[in-house]
Amino acid sequence: MKITGTHINYYFHCKRHLWFFAHHILMEHTSELVAIGKFISESTYERKQHELHFVEEDFEFVLDFFDKNTNTIHEIKKTNKMEELHIWQLKFYIYRLKELGFHNVKGIIDYPKLKRLIKVELTEKDEEKLNEVIKEIHLLVNQKKPPKVIRKSYCRKCSYFELCYV
Ligand code: SF4
Repeated sequence: MKITGTHINYYFHCKRHLWFFAHHILMEHTSELVAIGKFISESTYERKQHELHFVEEDFEFVLDFFDKNTNTIHEIKKTNKMEELHIWQLKFYIYRLKELGFHNVKGIIDYPKLKRLIKVELTEKDEEKLNEVIKEIHLLVNQKKPPKVIRKSYCRKCSYFELCYV
């Protein structure tokens, strides 16, 4: 399995959601776009043109825009509802680029509607955390059963709500 930014998103959002996604479980009445997380996709622009698409043996990720002059990844998001997830997703991209030999890469999350920019950097602690997260994602996905329902208020907006709360 190739780990993508979406896996990282779901890891921080809901591990049960991650398991459903990794097992290609889609709700019958929902499109794939909706099933990968209405709540998350509401906060993200659909990408029209991918600037950079990285495909590795164990990872795959797409950057909205990479500014070579400033060594900065730019991610554009609609809302900051899922800000922590956006930050970890960007840290994951910086982490992968570092592994691929791109050093001192920084990130900026741009919320144009909110006129807000967030600078993101990868610390040593973040790298340790991402190493653990990646190991844990593999373990979680290999579990025979999905993790338990997390019972959060945002479950109501989740595409798997009916599956989790039957
Ligand atoms: S409904 Fe809640 S517990 Fe179920 S997958 Fe969605 S976020 Fe996770």
